[in-house]
Parts: sequence; C-alpha cells; structure tokens
Amino acid sequence: MGSTNQKASAESLPSLTPIPLDALSKLVAWFRRGNRVLPWREEPTLYRVWISEIMLQQTQVVTVVPYFERFIAEFPSVEHLARADSESVMKAWAGLGYYSRARNIHQGAKTIAQKGFPKTKEGWLEISGVGPYTAGAITSIALGLPEPIVDGNVERVFARLRILRRSLGDAPYKTSLWWLSGEAVATAHAAGLSPSDLNQAWMELGATVCVPRKPQCGLCPISIDCEALKAGIAELLPEKKKRPEVKILEESRVALVDVIREKVYLEQARTGEWREGLWDFPKAGGEFVGVKRGDEIITKHVVTNHRITRALEVRVVDSESRAVRDYPGRWISMNDPEVGIGSAPKKGIAAIRAGS
Ligand code: SF4
Repeated sequence: MGSTNQKASAESLPSLTPIPLDALSKLVAWFRRGNRVLPWREEPTLYRVWISEIMLQQTQVVTVVPYFERFIAEFPSVEHLARADSESVMKAWAGLGYYSRARNIHQGAKTIAQKGFPKTKEGWLEISGVGPYTAGAITSIALGLPEPIVDGNVERVFARLRILRRSLGDAPYKTSLWWLSGEAVATAHAAGLSPSDLNQAWMELGATVCVPRKPQCGLCPISIDCEALKAGIAELLPEKKKRPEVKILEESRVALVDVIREKVYLEQARTGEWREGLWDFPKAGGEFVGVKRGDEIITKHVVTNHRITRALEVRVVDSESRAVRDYPGRWISMNDPEVGIGSAPKKGIAAIRAGS
C-alpha cells in the first residue's frame, strides 16, 4: 500500500481497529484450502487478470467464465487484441452488457501493445476503464504488490467486520473501507503472506460465505474478529446505497427480414449514440420497404437503470432487391450474426425465428 492518502486517512479514523495478522493468516489459509477453480486463477498473467477483472466489474463469475474462455481463445495475447478490429471485439463481448468495457479493453490493449504492461497501480490507472479497485486487483494478483482492493464483495465483508455505516457519510465510509483493506494487505505482506492470496481471499469470502442475505458465519474463518456478528446485526450491513430511479423507456423498431436467406437488416449505433458500436434494428419512422408481417413483436429488457419495452414491426423483404441496395446497414445471418449485437436485437431475432 504505502500511499500518503492512506496514512492521512488513518489519522482521521482513530477508532477503527485494523484486522489483526492472526485473522489474516487464517483467512489466507482458508482461501488456499478451498478456493474455486477459475480459469484466470490457473494462469494469473497480467493480460488474463486484466481481462477477467474488467469482465467481472459488473457481471457475476458464473456468467463471466465462458465469455472469458472464448475471449482468450480468440485474442490469446494483448497484441492479438490490439490488432483486432473493433467489430470482432464487440462481437466477442456481445451479451455481457456494459459495452463501454469492451471499447475500453480494446483501447487499453492498443496502449499496452505500444508501451508494455504497466508495473504499478498508478500505471494501470492510466489504462482506459481501470479504476482504483481494478488497478489494485491486477497489481496484487498478477504482480504480488501490496495494493488494497474494495469492490462490492469486499465492502460487505469490511462493513460487517468493523460495523461501518454509510449513513455517517459516503466519504468517511469509503475512506474507512480503503484504509482497512490497505492496512490488511500491508500487514500481511510485511509478515510474508501473499497480497494476491489475501485480496482474492477477501473476494472469495464475500462471494461465497459473507453473502448479502444469510451470511454463513458458521463457516467464516475470521468470525471471531467480526463486530457485526457479535452485535447480531450482520445481515443489516452494509447499508444500502440510494438506487438511481428506474427509467421506463418505450421504443419502436423495424425488422426487415429476408425469410428465404434467413437474414435480418441491422444498423450500427454511431459514435456517441447509446449502445455505440453495436448493431440493432433500425428505428421506426423511416421509409422502409417490405410487406408487413402479422402483429408487432414486443420484447422487454433491462439495461442498467432502464426498463425498456420494444415494439418490433416485422416486414418481409428480398435482401438482394434494388429497393434496399442503398440502405446504410448490413444484412446479417439470423443463425450466426457475425457482428456485436445486444440483448434487445438478440431477443427480437429469436422471436422472428420462432415465428418463421
Ligand atoms: Fe461475514 Fe459472518 Fe464472517 Fe462476519 S462472521 S465476516 S458477517 S461471514
């Protein structure tokens, strides 16, 4: 750790008790005994840890594993990724959501291919899409540096271990979390424990034992040091963040379908547009050719805090006719769309196929 920020924070947090070395040793031993086998743990290179940490930013482990394996098979090194066109990167990411992550990874790969992998947390913070948590995770796991980490899982564990309350103010709450993590990894490192194992042990404890509802305190290797357990309030922590309001969106799109060739017409969202780089059905309202087929297809999906209902008007058309020659998009195979598409057009295509 060793940042001056953390030292300054320690002075302003006199009542916070660090996690003792004895507990850290027990936690690391617990992690070594039974951690989950995950593909990025088998070979924790900077490249693989970086890709896995970006994928895990907003997505659960079980969803990430097959995407990670396919992604690494397609782009086995940072050079492969840097050389790839953005289309194939978006396609490999399609379905994982939060597509700015894919754009950041691609941009980051180009920087790294030129300058080499950063070797410090500060260096990683210069890479697109890498914030303090991800930089701490990459450098501790792949390089063994004593850098702190705080993500949702780790937050929950620390909030319970030391009864940290968000209601006392967001800034002191976050500072306390980072300070505890920093103290822990520095203490562990000084005693010869691996920062990589310790940080992964926090993540693992939060993901498998110190879970949001009904924490398995009977299985917890450091329950003796847990203040929330002693006070009988573990399940009440961490205090919830105020959620942003859910926005309801309704949109209309047109699906031009060539039933003979099993193709649909899609257009790519332009730079600066929502879902930039992804392919989707064109917006309704244009002068589209084709014969209208049956009722509209209604699909529903959720993207971050948007609940979207989409009405899809299906029109049957010949994709090789002169009438569509000047359309700016592409005709895509419904069986194997070779471009990046999000969950909304995916659902639309599945509904079209089911009705054809
Ligand atoms: Fe979490 Fe329970 Fe362990 Fe405390 S004792 S850290 S609440 S699992």
